[in-house]
Amino acid sequence: MIELSHIDKRFGENHVLKDISLTLAEGTVTGLVGPSGGGKSTLLRSVNLLEIPTSGAIRIGDIRLEFAPGRKVGWNEIQRLRRQTGMVFQNFQLFPHQTALGNVMEGLLTVLKQPEKVARARAMELLDKVGMAHKADAWPSTLSGGQQQRVAIARALAPSPRVLLCDEPTSALDPELAEEVVEVLSRLAREGTTMIMATHDLRLASRVADKVIFLDGGVVVESGPPKRIFSAPERERTKKFIASLT
Ligand code: ADP
Ligand code: MG
Repeated sequence: MIELSHIDKRFGENHVLKDISLTLAEGTVTGLVGPSGGGKSTLLRSVNLLEIPTSGAIRIGDIRLEFAPGRKVGWNEIQRLRRQTGMVFQNFQLFPHQTALGNVMEGLLTVLKQPEKVARARAMELLDKVGMAHKADAWPSTLSGGQQQRVAIARALAPSPRVLLCDEPTSALDPELAEEVVEVLSRLAREGTTMIMATHDLRLASRVADKVIFLDGGVVVESGPPKRIFSAPERERTKKFIASLT
């Protein structure tokens, strides 16, 4: 249901993604691992068109967009595809001048134009899901990093996206706080949330991902179940990377 076909991304001379093709089944979690600079963030950002691929095609559900050098992608098309996605960032990026509840309601009110009552009920349901209902009225600055990230996850899920994109969701957190975020993400995975997650955290990838993709130098070096990739990698580059982390 999510398909990337022959995605290329160049920043000037820098060829960052090279002919990436992936298919993600609904309800599965795909982990993106690999060295820094390998293209993980760019790939995630391409899926929701924070970066426009240089060429290739993206399909999410019924929406398919093709990219080619010189072809302008319309703003409406971008918005239509982007609304199929929710994004969680390494540094949470909550709106500082809104409460936890306000953060989760924001997109429902401004983008989806939901009535206040409907948006509030939906937002409370999601805060409850991530264990943050008791902090609905708290300001982001008063929350721990783990709590902020859980609110950010609720915010990303509020408009019911088809896919949740997580870019290093635990990297800014101490192990203990990372653990509470991992617990939320693994629960969402068990409940069938479709996710793509870039992470350094092999433990997170092993616990949550159905499939791991090892990305290095903008190419998919190998992919497979996390157990196999982490315990019996086939490619030299993957072996070196796994060894460097353990
Ligand atoms: P990762 O997330 O795996 O660390 P990134 O996707 O952030 O990798 O980066 C891949 C490459 O793309 C790097 O060489 C980086 O410098 C380059 N890059 C990423 N974003 C931009 C940008 N907005 N402009 C120019 N180069 C970029
Ligand atoms: Mg990155």
